Amino acid sequence: MRLGGAARFVIEIEEDKDLAEAYHFADEKKLPVYVIGGGSNIIGRDGGYNGVILVNKLHGIYVIDSDEDTIRLCAKSGELLDDFVDYSVKLFDGEQFGFSGIEALSKIPGTVGAAPVQNVGAYGQDIAQTLHHVCVYDYKDNCFKKMMASELNLGYRRSIFNTGDGVGRYFITSVTVELHKHWMKPPFYNSLQAYFDERNITEFSPAVVREAVSAIRASKLPDPKEYASSGSFFKNVYLNEEEAEAARAKDIPVWDGGKVPCGWLIEHAGLKGKEFYGMRVSDKAALVLINESAKSYADLAKARQAVIDAVYEKFGMTLEQEPMELGDE
Ligand SMILES: Cc1cc2nc3c(=O)[nH]c(=O)nc-3n(C[C@H](O)[C@H](O)[C@H](O)COP(=O)(O)OP(=O)(O)OC[C@H]3O[C@@H](n4cnc5c(N)ncnc54)[C@H](O)[C@@H]3O)c2cc1C
Repeated sequence: MRLGGAARFVIEIEEDKDLAEAYHFADEKKLPVYVIGGGSNIIGRDGGYNGVILVNKLHGIYVIDSDEDTIRLCAKSGELLDDFVDYSVKLFDGEQFGFSGIEALSKIPGTVGAAPVQNVGAYGQDIAQTLHHVCVYDYKDNCFKKMMASELNLGYRRSIFNTGDGVGRYFITSVTVELHKHWMKPPFYNSLQAYFDERNITEFSPAVVREAVSAIRASKLPDPKEYASSGSFFKNVYLNEEEAEAARAKDIPVWDGGKVPCGWLIEHAGLKGKEFYGMRVSDKAALVLINESAKSYADLAKARQAVIDAVYEKFGMTLEQEPMELGDE
């Protein structure tokens, strides 16, 4: 969002062994620690961060092993997720080019290490579907650990890393996924299927899916290099069965699992393209807030409230923010 104050200390982590020293430094100064990958899902508050920011610079991508149906790939957590996807769709194992499981996550900004934190997802895939395990530095127990995907309580935009006691406890150092040798099959996520149908595409190699997702994202989402945003600013709303029935009766779209797309709610509250306190509701995708001219977190907070209030007034549903926040107001 390109907002917020300065951090007191910043340490770049280039090797796993830097971590113990960095946490020790923070302990000695009695300061809190915060981990940053690409910073694309973090909003800085105006007062700055009186603590130690660890910036992830761990690099490397490796093939671990494979069998008849699957291949395991590991990426150090500072790699860009999109580079990891690119690697997976181009990989040749002597028989086949391209492995399936993360190709629909193409062009999600940020690092591999942040992917399990909110279980990133797009176009019908999320990292939970292929995540095998992560390696972490556990600040509480002061040691490195391997944690299997089943231990991470992965859900919609949720994991042990962003909820409960796990918040701030772990630095994820690497992520291992188990990809498939068989490719994705139709039916695909609506907009992806429409893309294939319009172009009569019938072969769905991971590279083809990656290309399609990249093209759809480029047409729908503001380019993060050009526009300051955090991607989806609000989370989709999930309704129970009773609420879903009531919503459908009012012609509100409710998808599988009671999901109401927050972009639809914002657009139908008449906010698409509107600007509040220097923050614009994207005219391409209403769930994205773009920083046009806001100078402070305080402006963002007022704009956020204006959107939440308008949606609540129209539909009686309360939107929740997706990005994390950091620092003092
Ligand atoms: C234009 C745009 C489009 C987007 N589209 C999508 C989308 O389609 N789907 C989706 O799910 N998200 C999307 N996002 C959100 C964002 O890309 C993801 O949340 C991504 O995982 C953030 O990566 P990052 O490295 O920038 O994380 P950061 O913003 O740096 O950090 C995010 C959180 O993860 C924690 N964290 C980061 N690295 C580590 C680590 N190594 N160990 C422990 N904790 C860590 C941080 O402390 C913080 O709490 C989008 C964002 C933008 C700007």
